[in-house]
Amino acid sequence: STFPQQRDNEIFSLISQEAHRQEFGIELIASENFTSPQVMEAQGSVLTNKYAEGLPGKRYYGGCEVVDEVETLAIERAKKLFGAAWANVQPHSGAQANAAVFLSFLNPGDKILGFDLSHGGHLSHGSPVNFSGKYFQAFFYGVEKETGLIDWDKVEATAAKEKPRLIICGASAYSRDWDYARLRAIADQVGAILLADISHPSALIAKGLLNNPMQHCHIVTTTTHKTLRGPRGGLIMMGNDFENPFGFKTLKGDLKTMSACLDGAVFPGTQGGPLEHVIAAKAIAFGEALTPTFEAYAKQVQSNAQAMAKAFLAKGYDIISGGTDNHLMLIDLRPKGLTGKLAENTLIKSDITINKNMVPFDDKSPFVTSGMRVGTAAMTTRGLKETEMEQIVDLVDRALMNHENETVLAQVKTEVNQWMKQFPLYL
Ligand code: PLP
Repeated sequence: STFPQQRDNEIFSLISQEAHRQEFGIELIASENFTSPQVMEAQGSVLTNKYAEGLPGKRYYGGCEVVDEVETLAIERAKKLFGAAWANVQPHSGAQANAAVFLSFLNPGDKILGFDLSHGGHLSHGSPVNFSGKYFQAFFYGVEKETGLIDWDKVEATAAKEKPRLIICGASAYSRDWDYARLRAIADQVGAILLADISHPSALIAKGLLNNPMQHCHIVTTTTHKTLRGPRGGLIMMGNDFENPFGFKTLKGDLKTMSACLDGAVFPGTQGGPLEHVIAAKAIAFGEALTPTFEAYAKQVQSNAQAMAKAFLAKGYDIISGGTDNHLMLIDLRPKGLTGKLAENTLIKSDITINKNMVPFDDKSPFVTSGMRVGTAAMTTRGLKETEMEQIVDLVDRALMNHENETVLAQVKTEVNQWMKQFPLYL
């Protein structure tokens, strides 16, 4: 071959540094996880070389016999895992999956109703800096100041007032479960399509640990790389054959018609060729998620989050809504006299990674923020359990309470690095 003989040490030494960072640090970013070696092997495979525009059996390129089988397996496994009637495994990311939904069923200028970004929603649900907020007229619901919970009556009132074409539920930083049946009733009242973006808690939903949107929401999207523990990517599903509830003149609401719209909105609507190496990795992750071992993992993620929330509360931290039902929690740091930015920058000195996050009714900018978001998906993959969650909270608290003391921060870092050796990951 004409491949270079020389190894690209510049890049590989950086990859090795990153492996080291992941192996010896504490990872609490709620949207991250560690994939299995098999997932990474598939992603680094020859499938990256293959163009396969179209769908299995209906491609615009020759030589797709093998990748057709790979993609079909990914689709079948996704359907089995979530109890879906239809799935498209091609979206390159969660935002791409949502983009395909918008392109399928909305016209520019249509009204959409989503969960407020500053209360825990996602950019792709109508934020003015995202295409979803630029091309559509976005309205938002949020949480109550006193409880930190979404008030479904208020969602209903906003939907009745604005009459959105699409209602989006799902979040990036909401620690409570969703009432999909109630949301569907609200959507039906105003003739809206209901989209559930389950990117964050998808593994917990797949394993029956949280309410399942599949029978209530017309469309379900998710990323594949958060609690689901697959490669970075997106997935779109439908659970049901729906009657035409939307009053569309040109579109029937049934599964066949809607899924055809969605397929077309992914390719050629918003993407070119699918990433078959990533799709193979998704298939592996879905296969792993169908095992009893993964069920135990998902349960542990949830128990660990509850143990972590309890430990934070015991140390006087203010968790929005007072606790968690899923894998994450959002902490208001104002009572501790800290900002999210300071917390993030302090903890990284001790090799503990979190992200700063706006809290509902935040008085600081998104670059500073009053909160931090933490989750248990990644550390549970390493094998940590409830008692270790208490130890993590001790380390986090020790670092934060000594944010001006570099000696303590260095001590905590040494402890973190030593401790993580007991839970080997890849090295
Ligand atoms: N939807 C939700 C609820 C998310 O939390 C995220 C990512 O954080 C996304 C969509 C976007 O996913 P991606 O980063 O893969 O585009």
